[in-house]
Amino acid sequence: MRRKVSIFGATGSVGRNTVSLLEAQGGPEAYEVVALSGSANIALLADQARRLQARIAVTSDAGRLEELRRALEGSGTEAAAGTPALLDAASEPVDWVMSAIVGAAGLAPGMRAVRNGGVLALANKESLVCAGDLLQAACKAHGTALLPVDSEHSAIFQALRGEVPEAVERIVLTASGGPFRDWDLAEMARATPAQARAHPNWDMGERISIDSATMFNKALEVIEAHVLFGVPSASIEVLVHPQSIIHSMVGFRDGSIIAQIGPSDMRGAIGFALNWPERRGLPVERLDFAALARLDFASADQARFPALRLARDVIAAGGLTGAVFNGAKEAALDAFLAGRIGFLDMARLVEHVLGELATDAAATGSYGLDDVLTLDAEARARAGAWVVSRSSC
Ligand code: NAD
Ligand code: MG
Repeated sequence: MRRKVSIFGATGSVGRNTVSLLEAQGGPEAYEVVALSGSANIALLADQARRLQARIAVTSDAGRLEELRRALEGSGTEAAAGTPALLDAASEPVDWVMSAIVGAAGLAPGMRAVRNGGVLALANKESLVCAGDLLQAACKAHGTALLPVDSEHSAIFQALRGEVPEAVERIVLTASGGPFRDWDLAEMARATPAQARAHPNWDMGERISIDSATMFNKALEVIEAHVLFGVPSASIEVLVHPQSIIHSMVGFRDGSIIAQIGPSDMRGAIGFALNWPERRGLPVERLDFAALARLDFASADQARFPALRLARDVIAAGGLTGAVFNGAKEAALDAFLAGRIGFLDMARLVEHVLGELATDAAATGSYGLDDVLTLDAEARARAGAWVVSRSSC
């Protein structure tokens, strides 16, 4: 029987890699592709749907239904558009789903997909940062296996196979350091979006690439590791490793360390989640250690990358502080991309919004998806007000 799969965020960087792996592993003969989602890139979405013979293709952009319909003419794929259609597509039963929408927008579809049981391959780290408890509780209730796709967390997941939680002493989360690893603060203050999106090692979407330059991406990943693996913040170290060959490590109480190593290619982590619990052949480069010759390490600089310090504050505060952090970070990135604030202002803005909302967010007891989305919207509104007040000074 063919395995039923859906990909949300199919047209993005992770989504495209997922599509290419499905094709490499037999395409529509091996997989029954139920739903593919995208947003603006209708031509790519339609092309993917044709290649994989998907049952439904959905764009989150409600205004582009006709365009998608036309692009799918004669394909047999049903076209759908808008958020309700996206949520309906996420409710379609499948065995395996890739959650690769970028940002908090991935949370609601992910929460729907979890109800199907099977496997949730989670690239959308924002949903764990915003509502980790909720997502994990839903996975537990529906017997869904949550497999991290973020390369660091896939590495940790792989290193923890067969180990007990009590044996874990620390997690060493590696970070490339991004394009500004060696820049001083004065240079960083002048950094442009084009410079910030030029990631040295990984070929990723624009938003996560800029989040790597501020190290907000690593900040999200510290929170993600805390949520996924239940390890206290103090036992999660961030280690700058410019080659991005060691994807992360786990240190055990006997002093032993297990590292997961591989090329900087997301198809490794995606393929692991796709084939789990087996390992199958993947079309990724094989490492040549002699050619690599050296691996470098350095501690992360919290003065130049305050996002790392803020992540610790978010974990310490708990409750729904992660939703505030992520919402403010997304708004800060939008403002930077629009040329309204400078590179270093992004962390200042997030810290400001946390200062305004963290106490209430931390005090939130039991909560639901609506509470998370309300707080996300509030964080964005506060961020917007800060940007306006700054530009009118
Ligand atoms: P991307 O920007 O390349 O693609 C994002 C996808 O989400 C696209 O399909 C886009 O159409 C869709 N999308 C965007 N906004 C949407 C909205 N409001 N509603 C519905 N769909 C929307 O992003 P990416 O780099 O592939 O990253 C996807 C997720 O995976 C992010 O959470 C990111 O942090 C995580 N991730 C990515 C990488 C990587 O290598 N790119 C690595 C680790 C984790
Ligand atoms: Mg990562």
